[in-house]
Amino acid sequence: MNQTPFQSNSRQPHTDVTETQLLVIGAGPYDLATAAAARSIGIEPLVVGEPMEFWRRNMPAGMLLRSSIDWHLDPQGQHTLAAYLEDNGVDPNDVDPIPLELFIDYAEWFRDAKRISAERVRVHDVQRAGGQLEATLDDGRRVRADAVVAAPGVGPFTRLPTWVERTVPPERYSHTSELARLERFDGARVLIVGGRQSAFETAALLAESGAERVDVVHRHDPPRFTTADWGFVEPLMEASVRWPGWFGRLAPAHRGAIERRFWREGRLKLEPWLAPRLARPQIRRWPHATVTSTSELAAGAIAATLSSGEILHVDHVILATGYRADLARVPYLAGVLDHIQLTDGFPILDQHFQTTVPGLFITGFAATRDFGPFFGFVRGSTAAATIITAGPIGSEPARDGVRPTRPAARERHGAVPPRRHTATKRAELAS
Ligand SMILES: Cc1cc2nc3c(=O)[nH]c(=O)nc-3n(C[C@H](O)[C@H](O)[C@H](O)COP(=O)(O)OP(=O)(O)OC[C@H]3O[C@@H](n4cnc5c(N)ncnc54)[C@H](O)[C@@H]3O)c2cc1C
Repeated sequence: MNQTPFQSNSRQPHTDVTETQLLVIGAGPYDLATAAAARSIGIEPLVVGEPMEFWRRNMPAGMLLRSSIDWHLDPQGQHTLAAYLEDNGVDPNDVDPIPLELFIDYAEWFRDAKRISAERVRVHDVQRAGGQLEATLDDGRRVRADAVVAAPGVGPFTRLPTWVERTVPPERYSHTSELARLERFDGARVLIVGGRQSAFETAALLAESGAERVDVVHRHDPPRFTTADWGFVEPLMEASVRWPGWFGRLAPAHRGAIERRFWREGRLKLEPWLAPRLARPQIRRWPHATVTSTSELAAGAIAATLSSGEILHVDHVILATGYRADLARVPYLAGVLDHIQLTDGFPILDQHFQTTVPGLFITGFAATRDFGPFFGFVRGSTAAATIITAGPIGSEPARDGVRPTRPAARERHGAVPPRRHTATKRAELAS
């Protein structure tokens, strides 16, 4: 495996442009699931991006996932997380909750099994080119594609309170999605703004990795330590595959009810395994409080005044303040942005995740407005991949701007046996 896509996945290149039926931008969960679904119907995708880069570079080592074992990447349901554990002799009970490192390793195993190679370079921009789309890569190469699937994830969409950018020097604050290395906070006093799972898990990890003090400030009631029940998502995912675009067509009240349910499970609950890890003297909690002002102290530290009147002296501020879609923040889409119709920063998508630029599909978090909140999490990746590849991507290339709806030849690809780990690796995975 690991053939170079530019050698083997391309159609006949003309001069310096590689042609492909499907370009997948990124190599995170949504991209890998899409690539697998494409291969299963005989489309050889060209995947451009660093595999699981966001998970490796933006999530802290030692983090435990909220995802359960049935949240996997395989639209065909074969190379699941459960199959990976079984293949490696790991008892699921030994990896519950699932460590970040294990999920990254699963994604690598999945990629091997599905023979998905990724070109480790970035897409610089995407432009319209007749009935096709043309991407320029950071190394100058150009790719012309009948269809492009982009999964920008949550990375570009961090939401920061306005006071932070106005009053705190950039080197003194970070968003929770930028915290791969927590050792740098050894001995530091850290203020965390936000009170959901990511805020408290970051607090636990910081205290465990040697932070002197961690203050968690949030305006709402303290969330409850109760296992989130994601069971209600299953029928919704089935409905999404059976009736593509179903969520976007719901009446606002029905849609709102689903969003509130999702909010209750995801935001109003903290995983119970976190509770004992927070019972440390250096972690202090400030519920029903906001930061009303900050000022810089002589040594570069920050004095943060809370609405309760308390003044906290801290070395760093961490914002666990979530995400807000704004497609203009995805750099490689700048060249087509004017043609993508947006609502509240989200692209308007058809029932197969296609934007108003024919052939350009956007999946993952940026699709949650039209497809539902579960598409911001790994759980939605298999359904999204199935829906996308059941649409015009499986069709012949556009001719005069018209895409036939009949699928192209559906040659099946066999899977290679997935990588097996040694006993030592298995012990590591379970530790
Ligand atoms: C701290 C934290 C904890 C989380 N925990 C969970 C959890 O427990 N369970 C869960 O389901 N979700 C969790 N999430 C959300 C998770 O990030 C998403 O579910 C998931 O990453 C979405 O996958 P994706 O493929 O859409 O995007 P990403 O995983 O972000 O992948 C984006 C890909 O795009 C690539 N890319 C970016 N720019 C370019 C470019 N110019 N050219 C080429 N490639 C590019 C990147 O390299 C990357 O491979 C968490 C997020 C954070 C921040």
